Amino acid sequence: MQTIRGFRDILPETIRLWQKVEKEATQLFEAFGFSEIRIPILEKTELFARSIGEATDIVEKEMYTFEDRKGDKLTLRPEATASIVRSYVQHKMYASDPVRKFFMTGPMFRRERPQKGRYRQFYQIDAEVFGIDSPYIDSQLIFILHELFMRLGLTGLFAHINSLGCPGCRPAYQKALLEFLESKKETLCENCLRRMDKNPLRILDCKVIECKGALVDAPSTLDHLCPACTDHFETVKRTLENQGVDFIVDKTLVRGLDYYTRTAWEIQTTTLGAQSAVAGGGRYDKLVAELGGPPTPAIGFAIGFDRLVEVLEQIEAPLEKPLDLFIVSLGETAVEKAYLWSCELNRNNVRTELDFRGKSMKALMKRADKLKARYVLISGENELAQNTVLLRNMATTEQVSLKLDHLVLDLIRIIKK
Ligand code: AMP
Repeated sequence: MQTIRGFRDILPETIRLWQKVEKEATQLFEAFGFSEIRIPILEKTELFARSIGEATDIVEKEMYTFEDRKGDKLTLRPEATASIVRSYVQHKMYASDPVRKFFMTGPMFRRERPQKGRYRQFYQIDAEVFGIDSPYIDSQLIFILHELFMRLGLTGLFAHINSLGCPGCRPAYQKALLEFLESKKETLCENCLRRMDKNPLRILDCKVIECKGALVDAPSTLDHLCPACTDHFETVKRTLENQGVDFIVDKTLVRGLDYYTRTAWEIQTTTLGAQSAVAGGGRYDKLVAELGGPPTPAIGFAIGFDRLVEVLEQIEAPLEKPLDLFIVSLGETAVEKAYLWSCELNRNNVRTELDFRGKSMKALMKRADKLKARYVLISGENELAQNTVLLRNMATTEQVSLKLDHLVLDLIRIIKK
């Protein structure tokens, strides 16, 4: 039996990097006033169709959707924002305090063509802020990403930012875009032609080379922003500059989801080839109201956890947690005692290993070496007869004889020193 295409196991060899990222991210989010939220993996299909948008790649062809036994249409979540908005509205969180900041980590599901850095089950670290329309929050979210990546030791990352305008300035822009697209109709792919009526902005996101070429001179949202959106974007840029966050204004950045308004961004890297975005985010000031809540500005981002780990793997070796103690126990009595010591040590956060297979001293020492044990405890018939054991420091090869009375306490004292 094998995993399904696009799905994979994350094995213990790499898991420490995942844990490191999660620990750094949690610390950072908590310092910035975010609280963790956990949401279901399965939601009604309608939630994603309405929020992400009917004419998007995700909703049109990438969702894992099925009917349950009662005929309800359900979908494995392709992203977290819609569910977090649903939760915010469902629990009327806005009633006691509209300002809320959440983060979460978990698997997402999209039926994309698998390749390096792209999976059908992938993980995101997600952050969302509700109730604040100030541009400083836009800058702050980009700043948090910048800070996290710096703490993880990443370089060569660029923040690409754009403003997608608001429902006030979008119609004028769409009109200009449609006029432009009409002139390129001959070159555009079928998908783009179909989207011209439904959602012309999506066309800017098309990955087909011919379309990309035809769209080089497409009008930019930035030339059509209303004064309020312009001010907003200017403040975001100024604040990022003041905080020393490098960014590139990228007028081609539209992001693949419909709900974005105003600031949108991606953090891109050159280390992963084509799959270059390690994080993406944006404002979605209309979505809370569209999903039945009161008008509430909101903004968030998602980090591609798999890709982030793949970048980290290129700059650091997988972290190993060394074994504190390997117990070489020879003979049945010694094994029984070793088992009891071992459990006591584990209860006190000392990492131990022992071997129950009755192997020879030589084989056990070899195993201790392989496991990179810091100390080896040798307990054989001779030692036990004298009520002692031998403790060897593997780095210095120094050996001390320890009495069995207070053995566990002595070991804890020496090993944790
Ligand atoms: P999105 O939700 O599409 O804005 O994606 C946010 C981030 O999630 C992207 O920048 C990627 O790093 C990551 N991501 C999206 N789709 C996938 C996928 N199929 N496999 C791995 N990572 C992904």
